[in-house]
Amino acid sequence: MAQSAATTTAVPAITPISLRTLAPWAAFFGILMLVLLYFAGAEQGAISVIAGEGVHEWVHDGRHLLGFPCH
Ligand SMILES: [Zn+2]
Repeated sequence: MAQSAATTTAVPAITPISLRTLAPWAAFFGILMLVLLYFAGAEQGAISVIAGEGVHEWVHDGRHLLGFPCH
């Protein structure tokens, strides 16, 4: 039994996202990443925003994974 080689596949229409729509999300996630980078990399000791060692302990493994100096 021969199969027909002329099968058609429907290509879904891709609508591009405009830069105006994307910009607020890019800014939001950029700021969020900077805050996370701050907490992983610099939240410790005299410059810490949140007192104590709680945040440092939560991000301690991530700090070592990213290569920030710790101890
Ligand atoms: Zn450490």
